[in-house]
Amino acid sequence: MAKINTHYQKLQAGYLFPEIGKRVRAYAAAHPAARIIRLGIGDVVLPLPAPIVDAIKTAADEMAHKETFRGYGPEQGYDFLLDAIAARYRSQGAQVAPDEIFVSDGAKCDTANMQEIFSLDSVVAVTDPVYPVYVDTNVMAGRTGPADSEGRYQRLVYLPTTAANGFDPPLPEDRVDLVYLCAPNNPTGAVMSRASLARWVAWAKQHEAIILFDAAYEAFVRDPSLPRSIFEIPGAREVALEFRSFSKTAGFTGTRCAFTVIPKELKARDDSGAWVALHGLWNRRHTTKFNGVSYPIQRAAAAVFSPEGAAGAQANIDYTMENARLIREGLGQAGYRVFGGVNAPYIWMQVPAGMTSWQYFDRLLHETNVVGTPGSGFGSCGEGYFRLSAFGFRENVEEAVERIRTKLPA
Ligand SMILES: *Cc1c(COP(=O)(O)O)cnc(C)c1O
Repeated sequence: MAKINTHYQKLQAGYLFPEIGKRVRAYAAAHPAARIIRLGIGDVVLPLPAPIVDAIKTAADEMAHKETFRGYGPEQGYDFLLDAIAARYRSQGAQVAPDEIFVSDGAKCDTANMQEIFSLDSVVAVTDPVYPVYVDTNVMAGRTGPADSEGRYQRLVYLPTTAANGFDPPLPEDRVDLVYLCAPNNPTGAVMSRASLARWVAWAKQHEAIILFDAAYEAFVRDPSLPRSIFEIPGAREVALEFRSFSKTAGFTGTRCAFTVIPKELKARDDSGAWVALHGLWNRRHTTKFNGVSYPIQRAAAAVFSPEGAAGAQANIDYTMENARLIREGLGQAGYRVFGGVNAPYIWMQVPAGMTSWQYFDRLLHETNVVGTPGSGFGSCGEGYFRLSAFGFRENVEEAVERIRTKLPA
């Protein structure tokens, strides 16, 4: 008799984006003339820069000739891409060797899969609000108990990040073995300072814990005093691994390429108490369950680091960050308390007092025809907040801000 993995039955319904879609569709059906502007989901809208598309085309042509055709490549990625990534880290003041990098088809998969090389009895901490993938994949694996009425899972440790602590994740008070940190943060747009990351590295060392650091938005950091990689922090190579992605940084959400860095020094204990390097475990996992990113897409990713490709990607980031500035300043003038949007493409705003995130969602939709994301969808500490994404076309962003200013000021 086949039986299911019952941990899946603990999962709360994937409620957020389907519910947003449902409410927007219902509104649009009742108001066919409404011009709805969507600043809800975190997806890029600008086309790939031409030098990056050219790299795909050139690589595709290579596949058409027997002299240059390629079959399976190394599961970890081609040297040309690993070397380019390692050089990028060097330029950011972090030491990463090419053979510590594992190229993949997404940071979502990597953040989801990484938990399987750790013991099932590991105690996991996440921030609240949080990118839901970290939570759900640990639920699926069986590391949590059931969820309570607020949607919080037993055995998972939640670290509240709110305006009260400046959205800086507080150190856990009780035992934690693994912690997911994301900076620049989705959804709050906050970036952890060097001092904050150093505090976390020291904590991890003291507790033999490991930090799973999601740097999917590192390219949006503009303030040179803020770290872009956890490996800029002395000692981090012994206690942290890092996820990065070309998705938001270079417009690859539909193209698919990302990577994870596992330093050779990073170790955890086995059942006998002996230290084991995680690099070997992840290498085993990656080579067993993954067969590499396609050659043309790895060429496209490498082109992101060429002078022309980098300039094109940077121009798209600058465009998005100008959107972020317009949203942040416009909403500030409209009386809202706004966070993020300076070194991250998300604006995290407080909804007017006395309203829930979903009540504000409905008012914004009905009174301005603008769609955002209710903060409560990212965790119970997101209640009272609302996320607007800066990924959008300029004219839509300008119009959305103008509508909110005139029709729904705080
Ligand atoms: C978008 C995003 C990712 C990465 O996505 P991929 O497209 O799978 O590389 C990872 N982490 C966070 C927090 C994100 O918002």
